[in-house]
Amino acid sequence: MIAFGPVPSRRLGSSLGINHIPPKHCPYSCVYCQVGSTSSLSITRQEFFSVKEITDDVDQKLNECKNQNREVDYLTLVPDGEPTLDTHLGELIFGLKQFQIPIAVISNSALINLPDVQDELQQADWVSLKVDAMDETVWKKINRPHGRLRLDNLITGISEFRAKYAGKFVTETMLIRGLNDNATILDPIIAFLNNLNTFVSYFSIPTRPPAESWVKPPDQAFLQDFLLTTPRKLSSMDILFEAETDDFQSTGDLANDILSITSVHPLREEALKQMVITSGLDWMIVEALINNKRLLRVQYQSGVFYLRNHKLKNES
Ligand code: SF4
Repeated sequence: MIAFGPVPSRRLGSSLGINHIPPKHCPYSCVYCQVGSTSSLSITRQEFFSVKEITDDVDQKLNECKNQNREVDYLTLVPDGEPTLDTHLGELIFGLKQFQIPIAVISNSALINLPDVQDELQQADWVSLKVDAMDETVWKKINRPHGRLRLDNLITGISEFRAKYAGKFVTETMLIRGLNDNATILDPIIAFLNNLNTFVSYFSIPTRPPAESWVKPPDQAFLQDFLLTTPRKLSSMDILFEAETDDFQSTGDLANDILSITSVHPLREEALKQMVITSGLDWMIVEALINNKRLLRVQYQSGVFYLRNHKLKNES
């Protein structure tokens, strides 16, 4: 399924996810990526699904939500890859307008210097761009970009887009121990975000299993100081240090819903257990997915998470 959820989101409320990029086409291979390593490191925009295929799937999912009296606050383009790689992005956003629900796009900024991408995103109601580093070396270490990308082009593209965009413009910055958790690296990011006049600048830390097992959140001393000092420099800042709530629900086919959600959003064990209980079904359904190698069980920090096994995704 292309549409999944709705999933509870601190930023967007009840968010119906749209996964319109096959795993895992992305111009980045971030060390903290929660959907694993990038198998197709690409900057070429292309067609993956037709707009009709996507909007039909969203329509079906919205009908299921309606039958269960479940609200949807946003339709969110949040694939297990980069949404702006879709050459039909503009037509897709336009096509989704028929549902009269605000549209959000979560992008890594890699292609934001392209005029077409900037124009297509204008139609979205809420756009999030990633800003993990302003320093070329750190950017390469964290985001591991495609070799033809240039950080200065991205930074210029973000500023150009911001100057034109009338919707809710937010940014997201992931803080990682030993990479960008120091003032030398962070102060230029904060100054840049200040100049962008963001609706909100979110800062997050890895809370789900990352692509590289050595990735850790900054230590407590840094985080305490960060929380104390950053709001004075950047009034629009907010933090996403906690995992989302456990309010995940199936809209009908539990096994498919688990696979669709975990494809882009690893589920904590508590959340998955709650989802199974709410569906009135048995944990056996999860065990079967694990035994069939369609779902992976992973330990990260003090939690247990369930992720879709992308190696088998195309066979399902
Ligand atoms: S975190 Fe986002 S931008 Fe980074 S590799 Fe994963 S999908 Fe791509």
